Amino acid sequence: MAGTSRLKVYVTLKLNDFYPRKHLYKSPTQIAIFVLAVLILCSSCEEQLKPGSEEHIRAVTGAIDDKRLIAADDEPGNWLSHGRTYAEERYSPLDQITTENVNQLGLVWSSALGTRRGIEASPLVVDGIMYFSGPWSVVFAFDVRTAELLWRWDPEVPREYAVIACCDVVNRGVALYKGKIFVGVLDGRLAALDAATGALIWEKVTVDQTKNYSITGAPRVVKGQVIIGNGGAEKGVRGYVSAYDAEDGRLTWRFYIVPGDPSKPFESRAMETAAKTWNGEWWKFGGGGTAWDAIVYDQESNLLYVGTGNGSPWSRFHRSQGEGDNLYLSSILALNPDNGELVWYYQTTPGDNWDYTATQPLILTDIEIKGKLRKVIMQAPKNGFFYVLDRETGELLSAEPFTEQTWTTGVDMKTGRPIEIEGSDFKDAPFEVAPSPLGGHNWHPMAYSPITGLVYIPALESKMKFTYVEDWTFTPVRGRSIGGQKVEGVDPATGHLLAWDPIQQKEAWRVSHISHWNGGTLVTAGNVVFQGTGEARFVAYDAKTGKALWEAFLGTGVIAPPITYLVDGIQYITIVAGWGGIGGLHHGLPYGKAAQYDQIGRVFTFAVGGQEPMPVYGTVPPVRAPNYEVSVTKEQLTTGASLYSEHCQKCHGRNVVSGMGVPDLRRASDEVHTTFEPILLGARINLGMPSFQGILSNEEIKYIQAYVISEAEKAAQNQKENDG
Ligand code: CA
Repeated sequence: MAGTSRLKVYVTLKLNDFYPRKHLYKSPTQIAIFVLAVLILCSSCEEQLKPGSEEHIRAVTGAIDDKRLIAADDEPGNWLSHGRTYAEERYSPLDQITTENVNQLGLVWSSALGTRRGIEASPLVVDGIMYFSGPWSVVFAFDVRTAELLWRWDPEVPREYAVIACCDVVNRGVALYKGKIFVGVLDGRLAALDAATGALIWEKVTVDQTKNYSITGAPRVVKGQVIIGNGGAEKGVRGYVSAYDAEDGRLTWRFYIVPGDPSKPFESRAMETAAKTWNGEWWKFGGGGTAWDAIVYDQESNLLYVGTGNGSPWSRFHRSQGEGDNLYLSSILALNPDNGELVWYYQTTPGDNWDYTATQPLILTDIEIKGKLRKVIMQAPKNGFFYVLDRETGELLSAEPFTEQTWTTGVDMKTGRPIEIEGSDFKDAPFEVAPSPLGGHNWHPMAYSPITGLVYIPALESKMKFTYVEDWTFTPVRGRSIGGQKVEGVDPATGHLLAWDPIQQKEAWRVSHISHWNGGTLVTAGNVVFQGTGEARFVAYDAKTGKALWEAFLGTGVIAPPITYLVDGIQYITIVAGWGGIGGLHHGLPYGKAAQYDQIGRVFTFAVGGQEPMPVYGTVPPVRAPNYEVSVTKEQLTTGASLYSEHCQKCHGRNVVSGMGVPDLRRASDEVHTTFEPILLGARINLGMPSFQGILSNEEIKYIQAYVISEAEKAAQNQKENDG
């Protein structure tokens, strides 16, 4: 019984895929299959599972196995894994929405998620059932047909993780396999949930939770294993990637990215090799290399590609006495997914010194280079080079800058190594480094269209001044960056959508944004590129020219990538919006008019002809000057400002301006001000406010409070002037 139901549902799915794509069923065999499918479906319509019912969800999610994931390109009606297919091109063959009709796109439904922090997730969709993750690794399941929230799973992450995680309490998405939803939890857990109910099936702690590890990346399922990495390279951890059996959560293998203490046995031959490229006592600082985002699988070569992170600490002089390549930091690794052994590697930034992660999204495709079809892997990591590598061998095919670079003059194609500019290591004098640690491109997914041959990169331009801190010792503090250098912004960072030709290695077109921090991209066979921005615009562009064709205002800054799929034959676009991430934390409010609204996370679904009105976004109340005074000298106020930027800014925003879930302290109540000191010493630890006991003195807390009050007074005064 269950078996036949499953078949029928599967047939429905295939029909959905066939229906709008007339060009697909032109051969006699295809027509015959189509007619047969219609007959099977209609002879048993009354027995069909009710869409959105537990039985329906069990049937459609239970059928997602290795075969379906490998052949995901054959069912564009679904979005089955992180970047749609294992190749993660984020290109959809759907073509109902085109450059001609995208201006008729309208809202079909939206739903407020009750969140106020960054949302970075790519949703998954199978037969109209949608899954995505939000802040604090909470998982949501929606029925696209009814806009109904089917279930919500909250892993109840301890709120101190707002400080332990480097870059907001974000999560990039879930994985789906054989009826289970997998999510990496901020505190280092990996959880398997029942896709139909959200009930927890198994849960594993993947890290040493006494250390500053976090997980924000989406797991990928490959050959029955759930692959997950971790983050924390700013905070003294050692990176690795792990594989767990999807069925029961048993650890099947673990690949360490940097070597541990060489007096102990190496975990792999790769670590023995890597240890020869390190100096000093790096293992005491963790070494870093954390793989916190890109994990991509190539079924043809049976290779699993992992992008690895920066060194811990950043400065190679503190980390490795300034010598050695420090394998496998800032690298693309090709692993054997069956045992986790290293097959090849390419290190983008040998001896990383600038937080130049190579964790940025990886795309697999086949392109013609010099008259030869090459199987390539492409990446635009933080260091500002766009790389094209042969994905079977790791051979570097090309590397050219896609943003400003002050640290290098280019890649030596003979050695594959970047040529560093003298002084860029900032050892002897401060140096203005571009790209900054924000990267020429950060985690925001890029998309590649085989039709236009272009990669659509959510790119950044930013420069920061690095100053070496000579007098540095490793003192790990829960949640604190381990330091070793001072970094200050030079000019405000800017962002743009960059269309890049990976064969010519040159820009095709760009669209500048007001915001430096914008969403990931999606490109479709209708030749439309979609991207959200940090000023809450969701925009559709012509993929060939960059001409803006349509836009909607989403109320909150957008950083996540959109997806597209079919339900009952209609093409939809979904985007989950929520301002935050490291860019949101730094900037405080989103850009433009979005800044006046309450930054509530929302999921939006659009289609051609959608008629729903856009939601009414709540505005934030004006800042009023607090009825509380702290008397300090001018010097103490300045000290308060610098203490604030060291300890508070990361959550409460630069210049005490926060648009996120953490309170905007300019709006703090009188009650908060009267209990300011106990709050800083741990009175609200359960609400996520960490304790600064032993870190800040009572006097220093007073200076910070005085600074907060002075910023609130300034804002209130500005408002009065604007209103008057
Ligand atoms: Ca980093």
